Amino acid sequence: MGQFVTKQRRVARPDVRKGVAQGYSTLIRLSRVRHAHPDGLGVPPNDFRPPHDLWMTRDVNNRRVPVASLSGKRTALAAVVGCFVQSLVMLCTNCPTVCSHHDADCIRSLLRSAIVVCTIASVGCDTQPQTLPRPSSTPTATRFEGETLNAGKVKAPTEASQPSSGIGEGATIETADAPDSETVSARSYRPPDLRLRHDAERLNELGIHEYVSRRLILYTDIEPDLASILPPVIDRAFEAWEAYFGPLPPARDGSDYQLTGYLMRNQAPFRTAGLLPVQLAAFAHGKHDGQQFWMNDSDFDYYRRHLMIHEATHCFMQSMGGTTRDVPVWYLEGMAELFATHAIADDGTISFGVMPDLKENFIGFGRIPMIQRAIADGHSLTLDQVSRLQPKDFVESNESYAWSWTVCQLAATHPRYRDTFRQLGREYVEDGFQHTFAHLFDPLLADFDPEWTLFVRHLCYGYDIERAVMLFQPGIEIEQPDGQLTATVLATRGWQSSAMAVHSDQSYVITATGRTAVAQSPRPWESEPQGISIRWNEGTPIGRLLGIVISEPDQQTGYRRVSPVLDIGEKAEFTPPFNGTLYLRVNDFWNELNDNSGEYAVSLHAKSDEN
Ligand SMILES: [Zn+2]
Repeated sequence: MGQFVTKQRRVARPDVRKGVAQGYSTLIRLSRVRHAHPDGLGVPPNDFRPPHDLWMTRDVNNRRVPVASLSGKRTALAAVVGCFVQSLVMLCTNCPTVCSHHDADCIRSLLRSAIVVCTIASVGCDTQPQTLPRPSSTPTATRFEGETLNAGKVKAPTEASQPSSGIGEGATIETADAPDSETVSARSYRPPDLRLRHDAERLNELGIHEYVSRRLILYTDIEPDLASILPPVIDRAFEAWEAYFGPLPPARDGSDYQLTGYLMRNQAPFRTAGLLPVQLAAFAHGKHDGQQFWMNDSDFDYYRRHLMIHEATHCFMQSMGGTTRDVPVWYLEGMAELFATHAIADDGTISFGVMPDLKENFIGFGRIPMIQRAIADGHSLTLDQVSRLQPKDFVESNESYAWSWTVCQLAATHPRYRDTFRQLGREYVEDGFQHTFAHLFDPLLADFDPEWTLFVRHLCYGYDIERAVMLFQPGIEIEQPDGQLTATVLATRGWQSSAMAVHSDQSYVITATGRTAVAQSPRPWESEPQGISIRWNEGTPIGRLLGIVISEPDQQTGYRRVSPVLDIGEKAEFTPPFNGTLYLRVNDFWNELNDNSGEYAVSLHAKSDEN
């Protein structure tokens, strides 16, 4: 430890800069592994990995181990030196302006850097591999409440729900997953906190003000009334992250977990103050690294919070070791978008992972119109295409964020997938993402894929995921030549299996009778199967009977095919585009199924030359 301190004090500033240049190139060489975050620090072209990945890597069994255990002390030493150099880089970006006239501050900062380096050294040079504990496979504690992950309703598995905390309150809730001492002693530690501390008074002179909560120190040049409400949002988000992913590994020094955020309306004073690292590539919205994030201000209050939670979610997932190389970008960005999509109730309760209800409550979000435009323009992606999105796709188009969000939104809130999806979030750090995903989701993909396909096809504000849940029930055959099949279609649900098998080499006649109500205000809107022509959804009158054909899973791909919508009404003749089962619904807005009632009786028979 002393050696680093002595060395640091001996060098004059010009030499430090020269050493930094050489050492930093070493750091870059050490970290020549592309990181998957499009908005992570130093993504291509910088090609820079987050610091903690320098000393934690994976062995042949895909377990997280310190670099030293793979490559020996020289590699560990190189990693330590690299991190030391990075600390100097951060320091030197501060020195010329913030503390050029305060040598004592500089020396204190140098000492702090040296301490940080020595802390890193103690982590990176462990010779025994450290492994994270295997997370519980049984989701516990906080659950999604309905379709929202409500941070204010953290509760133990056996406890009744507690009244939620207001937005302005400090975060003092301990989750049921809080680690006990025995667990802590057996687990590894989270990456060290490498944040720099700043002189708030001096930043004040530049118009940059500090706002502090338990989980966030925010430096910003926006108005105090806009800024002061932001740190408590991250306190609530932290509770939601831990409730979802499980508790963070503890800090080696026992310190509390906290982020530093830089929210910039005007980047110039932040650059002057050295708060924007030199290696930080230009960004449109935000960047993150370790326990720090940088973001540009938004004109919209909702979207300012959204971007902040998005970047902070990345920080949390990085701190839990959850951003290793085999994690796909759709998951990293989709989960950041999932948590960022939030709602604040009148009593201050914040819900994360909500389905946006009204456009005016989510100004700046824009993901739903993006998907709607893509569908209308015929540019829809398949689930497989979303899974193959690359970082450059996110740099080039915000649509990639929207597609990734749809996958995580459906998987995290659909009653049949949400527990498994959360299990993925709790297990992939230990077991590797690809392995864990295949183990948990391969058996579900045949159903999830068509549900997601229809989810994005019908996506709208307030989409009712619970009522749109599909049950995949294979159809039965019509007894030839004169048989017919009957089914009942409820107006309160989305697509429902008719249990009628249909074949592409056969034409069918389908008829429907009955009465439904597809709205209650200002009076019940009653409809028969032909629909009510004064109000339309997706190009057909509400109340009208519609159909689609869904195939059984393909032997080769494992996926089902989904046909375009068949317009049925009271009576229709159709030839299916492929073999499958007929699914039916009573047309209505996907955010207005809750006030429907009634059903149609449907019968199907094969068309012959006589009829
Ligand atoms: Zn992101």
